[in-house]
Amino acid sequence: MSTIAAISTAPGIGGIGIVRMSGKESFEILKKIFKAKNPQNIEDINGYTIKYGNIIEPKTSKVIDEVLVSYFKAPKSYTTENMCEISSHGGTVVVKKILEICLENGAKLAEPGEFTKLAFLNGRIDLSQVESIIDIINAKTDKELKASMNQLEGNLSKSIANIKKKIIDLLVDIEASIDYPEYDVEEVTSENAKIKLNEIEKLINNLYKTFENGKIVKEGIKVAIIGRPNSGKSSLLNAILNEDRAIVTEIEGTTRDTIEEFISIKGIPFKIIDTAGIRESSDKIEQIGIEKSRKAAKNSDIILAIFDVSKPLNKEDFEILKVIENKKAIIVLNKIDLTVNKETQKLLKEANKETIMISAKEKRGIEKIYSKLVEMFNLKELEIDNGNVITNLRHKSLIDCGKKNATDAIIALKSNLPIDIIAINIKEILENLGKITGETVSEDIIKEIFAKFCLGK
Ligand code: GDP
Repeated sequence: MSTIAAISTAPGIGGIGIVRMSGKESFEILKKIFKAKNPQNIEDINGYTIKYGNIIEPKTSKVIDEVLVSYFKAPKSYTTENMCEISSHGGTVVVKKILEICLENGAKLAEPGEFTKLAFLNGRIDLSQVESIIDIINAKTDKELKASMNQLEGNLSKSIANIKKKIIDLLVDIEASIDYPEYDVEEVTSENAKIKLNEIEKLINNLYKTFENGKIVKEGIKVAIIGRPNSGKSSLLNAILNEDRAIVTEIEGTTRDTIEEFISIKGIPFKIIDTAGIRESSDKIEQIGIEKSRKAAKNSDIILAIFDVSKPLNKEDFEILKVIENKKAIIVLNKIDLTVNKETQKLLKEANKETIMISAKEKRGIEKIYSKLVEMFNLKELEIDNGNVITNLRHKSLIDCGKKNATDAIIALKSNLPIDIIAINIKEILENLGKITGETVSEDIIKEIFAKFCLGK
């Protein structure tokens, strides 16, 4: 296997830049290009040591940069191979030059994710842990980071291993009854199998159920802001996004005419679906507006319905009230800095929803919206510190398959089908769960997963 090298820090200018190498030749290449201020033989350098010195271009003996080199000795490294990380000044040219020198002296340019792939192929981490690393890198909120960290620490792997062990125990029982039919263990096995399969199905189902929260952790709670033109939708959106407490990440909308803004409020991810900037220049403007609101409401988990409290309610406002009738929604009474229309205020308060008085313009009441949103999605429901939360769609569908296999096996048992037929269903559970951790997964899936990685990881 060749020794690989890549730049691990993001492209651009930064405080430091890191070039990483992994493989048998790492230290030999390093010996040619790194002159330590306090030289030592590699045998005398312990793993996890950092040495200070210069990177030299061997053919010209020119000093390229002053660096720190971290040594990681096999098997105690990210890839389990000999590794080093060269931390240089973070200029684009210097980092590229150091990589070039590594390549000229025997290293091969790493593919995206190749360091992590080695960690997987060398058995240090399984596939679910590999995927958690991508999620850690892409995490948008504290909760998502926490869920991904749980997965990297191997909590999901442990739960799966636990279920798999129970399945294997059951299969051993079944094989015994198939191999030694003369002992007439069939009856006993069938009863026993029913109990064990029910337990297995329950464990798989518990894991499956965590996806409900997992989806929120990953995708955010979808919030739609609806209201008639000029009620203050854009102003509210800006007020929400400009608040210092919210971490805002703009992500591409699912349709051409929406922008989705990701904000984290008290660690809970909310995705604000912004249709506020959309203006129609049609005669049917009102109808189109209502249609848009209806659509946005349908695709959201919660609605912020905003009304201009300084004005009488009009036909469109009443339509909006109808849209939110059977939905999780907060009625936002905007423009309280102006003279409040008492009738409007009364009607809105009677609408049987949570109401919040704000001035989007003066940024008053925004904090109350935050608290209400968090309260309506009970924080405890999203408590993920003590256990697994499935956030990955691939895992969810495999767990779903495993769950169906278990149900099929139980039905087959109840219908008194031969035990060797039932064993086939049971083996399928094993196979599907094994795809999550990567033991039974195809090369194509592995390729697809690593294609999502960045260079140098
Ligand atoms: P949208 O059409 O629903 O997106 O409404 P905008 O956010 O564009 O607001 C329409 C108008 O109302 C703008 O002139 C805003 O400055 C004004 N506006 C929005 N919120 C408030 C508020 O709380 N108080 C006052 N006085 N004006 C507001």
